[in-house]
Amino acid sequence: MPLEIDLSGRRALVTGAGKGIGRAICLELARAGADVFGVSRTESDLQSLGEEVAALGIRYAYAIAELRGPLEAERVVEAAVTALSAIEILVNNAGVAWNAPAEDVTEEQWDTTLDTNLKAAFFCAQAAGRRMLARGSGRIVNVTSQAGIVALHDHAAYCASKAALGMLTKVLAAEWGPRGVTVNAVAPTVILTPLGERVWGDPAKAQPMLAKIPLGRFGQPVEVASVVAFLASDLASLINGETVVVDGGYTAI
Ligand code: NAP
Repeated sequence: MPLEIDLSGRRALVTGAGKGIGRAICLELARAGADVFGVSRTESDLQSLGEEVAALGIRYAYAIAELRGPLEAERVVEAAVTALSAIEILVNNAGVAWNAPAEDVTEEQWDTTLDTNLKAAFFCAQAAGRRMLARGSGRIVNVTSQAGIVALHDHAAYCASKAALGMLTKVLAAEWGPRGVTVNAVAPTVILTPLGERVWGDPAKAQPMLAKIPLGRFGQPVEVASVVAFLASDLASLINGETVVVDGGYTAI
């Protein structure tokens, strides 16, 4: 039998669904057969995504939210359960990045980064996780970063948030694995999304980074999305607490 990612009948909530990696994840999950609930900040993105998902014959709904903590997390998870009847897959993808030398990082930059990338991800996992634990099964995939594994200049808050999300992945995997919920992460290198272009679009910054990637190129959103779909599928049934690095070899050398 061919190995195939089959998510038919599964229901997935994806945060940061409007653009970039999150949008690609929604489309990849939908191509594999999963119903999709998208959460993001810009409604026009969520509407145009809905048209693409509907073209695949997949059920889709969305909520607009600025995810920062437990209240919004509970609201969007409840909205997803109401729209799709349940959630079997949560992808914590929403994230922000500021570039600033460590000596210049402001409290607002620190709080926005940590609240979005770490606190919101934890409380979305908690809200979805409680429901998954009650059902005895579920898949959570966190989008971390290569910058959570190796240091990156001018990314103090970002690196700290992603390293913490990697550890949170392991803790949740340890606590919830015995009750049927697996928790894993993907850690991409630079991916050509609106965020990636904003941070790495300047060739003077891109060249030294490219030189450190053995494959010699930045990634495309679908190259992360396909790994997320795999981790959300039955093919990854024994994988728990793992961070899959999708970096063209950057962290291998
Ligand atoms: P992106 O192009 O900026 O897209 C991010 C999406 O998330 C947008 O739709 C954005 O909405 C939404 N979003 C941001 N903050 C949110 C919040 N608080 N609540 C709800 N939605 C929110 O970013 P991306 O490059 O696709 O990055 C996605 C994830 O991958 C992030 O966690 C990022 O850290 C991680 N990552 C990215 C790269 C890269 O090079 N691109 C590398 C490693 C890891 P709006 O458009 O309305 O703002």
